[in-house]
Amino acid sequence: MKLTIGYLYGDCMNIYGDRGNIIALQKRAQWRGIGVEVKNISLKDKLKAGEVDLFFFGGGQDQAQALVAKDLEESGKGKIIKEEIERGVPLLSICGGYQLLGEYYKPHDGPKLPGVNLFPVYTVASYDRMIGNIIVKLTDQLIVGFENHSGKTYLKEGGQPLGKVIKGFGNNGEDHTEGCIYKNAVGCYMHGSLLPKNPQFTDWFIQKVLDIKYGKKIKLSPLDDDLEIKAYQTAISRFG
Ligand code: GLN
Repeated sequence: MKLTIGYLYGDCMNIYGDRGNIIALQKRAQWRGIGVEVKNISLKDKLKAGEVDLFFFGGGQDQAQALVAKDLEESGKGKIIKEEIERGVPLLSICGGYQLLGEYYKPHDGPKLPGVNLFPVYTVASYDRMIGNIIVKLTDQLIVGFENHSGKTYLKEGGQPLGKVIKGFGNNGEDHTEGCIYKNAVGCYMHGSLLPKNPQFTDWFIQKVLDIKYGKKIKLSPLDDDLEIKAYQTAISRFG
């Protein structure tokens, strides 16, 4: 078996160590004998439907977001990503990447940046900087991360949050929601990087890839998660 990770704009949207998510996905697949190819997809690159099994889109500064928003629209990559998600391809997006997959991101200076309209959300830059460790309750687990954003994201009608904020700010520091989930696509504010400390969540993405790509339930063999769980518990303990 093999999976191809489409690393979206990794050369310009790569702050706060989000590349660690690619490494976690790669390793947890390879440790199970699954081959992994990482395909960098950035400004001006072409993207064909079906060539990627999972997308990753990290956070980035506002300047980079302006360039990327333009490229997503002009290159047609935004439309293809949306179509791929509709057929169930998994995606993880963090902060600036997440913001560009909504309806729009309105930075402090300058006009609204058009989003891909994948997630039913919109984002407006605020004068609050939301920084710190964050704990979020999903339906079946607590996940931990680190957030650092000024953008406030609001769910539109029908938008489903990824989870409920237990500690931290989340989407906007107001409605206790964090992130958004649509089919197998996830947007959230959890840097850190997120996946190395949340092995179950990493495996959720790998499982979804295999379900969609091979059209059958392939059981993931268990791994020794001792180190990951220690990192997770340390992050949780930071809240005292
Ligand atoms: N626009 C983002 C913000 O809300 C940029 C920072 C990020 O991606 N972490 O701050």
